[in-house]
Amino acid sequence: MSAVEYEVVIGLEVHAQLLTESKAFCACANRYGDPPNTHVCPVCLGLPGSLPVLNAGAVERAVRAALAFGCEVHRESVFARKNYFYPDLPKGYQISQYERPLATGGAVPIEVQGEVRAVRLTRIHMEEDAGKNLHGADGLSRVDFNRAGTPLVEIVSEPDMRSAEEAMAYLRSLRQVLRWLDVCDGNMEEGSLRCDINVSIRPRGESRLGTRAEVKNVNSIRFVGKTIQFEVERQAALLARGEGVRQETRTFDSAKGETVFMRAKEKADDYRYFPEPDLPPLRLEEAFVGRVAETVRELPLAMARRLQEELGLSPYDAGVLTAERDVAAFFSAAVQAAGPARAKKVANWMMGEVLRRLNEEGRPLSEAKMTPPLLAELVVLADGGQVTGPAAKRVFDEVWKGGERPEAVLDRLGLRPVSDDAAIDAAIRAAFARHPEELARLRGGEEKLLGFFMGQAMRETRGKGDPKTLNARIRALLAGD
Ligand code: ADP
Ligand code: MG
Ligand code: ZN
Repeated sequence: MSAVEYEVVIGLEVHAQLLTESKAFCACANRYGDPPNTHVCPVCLGLPGSLPVLNAGAVERAVRAALAFGCEVHRESVFARKNYFYPDLPKGYQISQYERPLATGGAVPIEVQGEVRAVRLTRIHMEEDAGKNLHGADGLSRVDFNRAGTPLVEIVSEPDMRSAEEAMAYLRSLRQVLRWLDVCDGNMEEGSLRCDINVSIRPRGESRLGTRAEVKNVNSIRFVGKTIQFEVERQAALLARGEGVRQETRTFDSAKGETVFMRAKEKADDYRYFPEPDLPPLRLEEAFVGRVAETVRELPLAMARRLQEELGLSPYDAGVLTAERDVAAFFSAAVQAAGPARAKKVANWMMGEVLRRLNEEGRPLSEAKMTPPLLAELVVLADGGQVTGPAAKRVFDEVWKGGERPEAVLDRLGLRPVSDDAAIDAAIRAAFARHPEELARLRGGEEKLLGFFMGQAMRETRGKGDPKTLNARIRALLAGD
């Protein structure tokens, strides 16, 4: 007897904080990490008589995200009040969009095991964030309203994902695009990107959806995978015992790696949605949408494909170089300066040295002294044999530290390659003299010792010996001696 085989069905609701200077409906700073309640005013505290004014920058970013995912951006959408009681919600309602959202349709491309496919979106709407409850060690709870009124987009997917792997790929892709377009910084730890996971299972072949559980606010991509794994097992065990899955809201306990019951699923009725009387419908002009569309050009997945096709990069290299927009832009500019024929070499420097150092130093590329023209200059010099491999690393170091031109570093440190025969011959003779046994073995036909003497002679020139000349002169000296 074989157990029932289940298919997993997943739909995600992602909340992304928009990277605006100020909050959604007031002039308070939209900033994370400041002392509690330092960015508050009558509007975001919901004091009587205050009125919201919509932040145009938030609309622009929301539209940018919607266009990036190919949604239909509605020329008119409507803000609504979503009513509920919670201490972090000073007004007693959240301004959101309900029946008439900013955008509908669209899709997020995901790549799983080398295959690209689309996860359809249901909608993208705008809303405001709530404040944050802080539970103190003294047993008292306090509320920080700095986050209250922060602009968000909620991005709702269709139940299109069929595995934890796909859900994680979806989040990675979504996050990458939002960061690429400066819509959201994507920082899940700080809560600027949060994810509710809807999971259900159904017998394979069944077309109706199973009853789902919704797991709230999972704050890392790894936890998203764990949440789904746990839920699938929990639900399968319930069905195996003949108990149904109940529609409920759960949370993920990261210490235990388990989801925990939170409350029975709330229904839309519970929120008593109604149109926000203090805000007119949001009307978007054609020209505005057109201007925003111009800021949404090539997206990372398309760029990665182009780098493979036009420059012959491997899928892996193309993926790494398009993971972040600043890295992709740096790479493009350096290739432009060095010439497309040297793209692979530029890629190697980017992946080997530039990204490694950024990682080590924990700094963004924008703060680096290395620039695309400087890297291009170094690549061209190395490619033309005007600096040897080991010396090139030293030049890179110097440019990285001080932003000096590679040509200038070569002269300052005397790193121009030595290719005049007299100097090279002297270095080789010195190496021969120091290693008579190895020399005898080389003469006896042990070819691999050629490499040994290349290394020794290179060291004599302090890394500056031109490898081709070195090789030729070792052979010449052996033959002519
Ligand atoms: P809410 O959770 O606010 O009631 P929806 O009914 O629109 O809103 O569903 C929210 C999310 O749940 C969507 O991403 C949707 O794809 C997903 N979803 C709906 N039904 C299922 C299901 N049976 N299994 C898995 N995901 C589902
Ligand atoms: Mg939901
Ligand atoms: Zn405010």
